[in-house]
Amino acid sequence: MAYNTSKKVVIVGGSLGGLFTGIVFGAGIAFYLMIPPIQEAMKNLGTSGAPIVDFLEQYDGTKTPTLTADGIQYLNKDGSIKFTTGGDGITAQVASWDLLYNILRANFDGGHEAGYVAAPPEMEGDGVANYVSDVRVTDLTEVDELVEVGYESVDGRKGALQADIVIGADGPSSTVRKLLLPEVERTYVGYVTWRGTVKESLLSDETRTLLGTKSCIAFTRGSQVVCYKIPGLKGSLVPGDLFANLVWYQNHDQAELKRILTDSDDVSHKYSLKIGKIDPKVKEEQGKVAAAIFPPQLAEVWQKIESPFIQAITDSLTTKSVFMNEKVFLVGDAVATLRPHTSAGTSQAAMNALFLKKVFDKEGGMSIEEREKTTVGWATFAKKLGVQMGNLSQFGDHPMADNGELSSKM
Ligand SMILES: Cc1cc2nc3c(=O)[nH]c(=O)nc-3n(C[C@H](O)[C@H](O)[C@H](O)COP(=O)(O)OP(=O)(O)OC[C@H]3O[C@@H](n4cnc5c(N)ncnc54)[C@H](O)[C@@H]3O)c2cc1C
Repeated sequence: MAYNTSKKVVIVGGSLGGLFTGIVFGAGIAFYLMIPPIQEAMKNLGTSGAPIVDFLEQYDGTKTPTLTADGIQYLNKDGSIKFTTGGDGITAQVASWDLLYNILRANFDGGHEAGYVAAPPEMEGDGVANYVSDVRVTDLTEVDELVEVGYESVDGRKGALQADIVIGADGPSSTVRKLLLPEVERTYVGYVTWRGTVKESLLSDETRTLLGTKSCIAFTRGSQVVCYKIPGLKGSLVPGDLFANLVWYQNHDQAELKRILTDSDDVSHKYSLKIGKIDPKVKEEQGKVAAAIFPPQLAEVWQKIESPFIQAITDSLTTKSVFMNEKVFLVGDAVATLRPHTSAGTSQAAMNALFLKKVFDKEGGMSIEEREKTTVGWATFAKKLGVQMGNLSQFGDHPMADNGELSSKM
């Protein structure tokens, strides 16, 4: 950790947004509440973006390598390539959620999973970082120059502590935002992503070669499927160890959503299902749809994914991200839940942390007003872009779609 503020910082939420912010402050206590369905599910996502690269260049003392990707292939239904981008020397770095989380934990408090990412050497001036699991923040009260943070642990113990700065990095259903701006809502947008990974060595040569170093995308009416490689277990970049990561956007109305989010134990969930918990009947139906509408290579990937999971796509956007006389700040998904088409969720969290650094670093040169305008302004733009992309791919006629006779009837 490079930057040590003399202020006491409490970070609510210990996922990527909380860790990016904790690292730039170089001190603080991250309150981390584990919500298993989301966290397990997120192991399978790929993540990339320029602000993440900027962040890691500045703050990652472990210098852990990630995967290099270089463009997109749009596929026809028969598996042929309609259009390709890339090959012009412009590349992107891709990590899995799991890898990025472990890199950030190594930098924040010395590491999470044994034998994954080793902690960087300590630097003079590093702050003290405590990562507290299984604690849910429940209240915030302004007490003169400080904020009192009330919390409850999973075993029911209640407590409170005081902080100079509180960061709400607690995601799309943010408690911090609900306490301070209850009118902001999180809404379902009419479609979900089905997701999953499969080790590339289990794929046919044809499919592995097609995936190469590019994302493959196929559109049919009301459906979009994206597939790309991400690092393998423990961040392995060895060919054969990589995972093919498949993300399939499909429309489901509220009644359908309720049905598919009812798990194999007949328990109903609001936004996501734990890996391995999809009702086998629902999984079988999805397999038939995938076989009918996907290009054959992506149908093969779907068919080989053992345990897919479902995530409902939701929108939320705050109108304000600073509260309690400039002592409480929102970052990441608590600011805006961005549609995954933009690939911007993790980038937003990294960018929000970099802006906070500019505000609290004496030489940073950013005022709180500028930070607020940029944070909410950027989130508003990115949210709008995601809505347009989603509306076109899910409810419109996408110019890259291959709406064959069969797919248009699905
Ligand atoms: C299934 C899925 C797929 C995604 N795919 C991509 C992708 O491909 N690319 C990309 O860039 N982004 C993706 N995202 C978004 C990306 O993961 C987030 O934008 C990024 O992790 C930053 O989120 P965050 O840390 O702000 O919030 P979250 O990751 O939601 O973390 C919030 C944390 O706060 C904790 N918390 C909640 N309430 C409380 C409380 N009261 N007290 C204490 N802790 C609390 C939660 O348990 C959680 O750990 C995806 C998200 C999901 C769910």
